[in-house]
Amino acid sequence: MQLQELLFSQGFGTRRVCAGLIQQGHVTVDGRPVDDAGFEVAVAEGLPFTVQGRPWAYHAKAYVMLHKPAGTECSQKPSTWPSVYTLLPDALRQRPVKGGVTGVQAVGRLDQDTTGLLLLSDDGKFLHRMASPKHHVPKLYVAEVKHALDEAQLARLRAGVVLDDDPRPVRALAAEALAENRLALTLGEGKYHQVKRMVAAAGNRVEALHRARIGTLSLPPDLAPGQWRWLTADEVQALT
Ligand code: URA
Repeated sequence: MQLQELLFSQGFGTRRVCAGLIQQGHVTVDGRPVDDAGFEVAVAEGLPFTVQGRPWAYHAKAYVMLHKPAGTECSQKPSTWPSVYTLLPDALRQRPVKGGVTGVQAVGRLDQDTTGLLLLSDDGKFLHRMASPKHHVPKLYVAEVKHALDEAQLARLRAGVVLDDDPRPVRALAAEALAENRLALTLGEGKYHQVKRMVAAAGNRVEALHRARIGTLSLPPDLAPGQWRWLTADEVQALT
């Protein structure tokens, strides 16, 4: 692949901008400066390069996790709070996707005040599969709740509660009290405000909510709020 095309595919701007960056000496590949936009690169997943001194690595498709902080919206056009997309580097937000420049997209949404694991990708099939109700990727949430938990509430969550937009009961795959006011809830689907509405229907109230795991993937303890990292190939494979 030509270097100009490689930079373009990784979100470093239009082909013209990428050619300019290379010709002005702002790019190194595998540690070597290259100023020829047509330079043929033997691309390989993870190939290191730098643009204007900033290190990057080639990824044919982008799969990343973000530790979503509270006070951020999972929307490209947020209404009130800053967008989670502003926490990502420009290159991830500018990756060309099927003729457009849409960048990575979040797998579903978390509420403004919810923290925790958010996945983003530019792979349409992955996004579709992860969001599909048929796929049922279990998601683990940890909620701080207002009132002390009791067996009756946990039993209601496991048996199924009826929410206002669907007569069919929705049930938790698992519901467990971690402490008097801390609930671990595993859900197989992702309806709007589902945890908050289920907990309310079971007679309690969510005061803080955190997503700790999606499928086999846990939020790493060393990934601070606001930080992101690439998923490994094994992590992507385990999710799909
Ligand atoms: N359920 C909720 O109520 N809010 C979230 O952000 C995620 C799941």
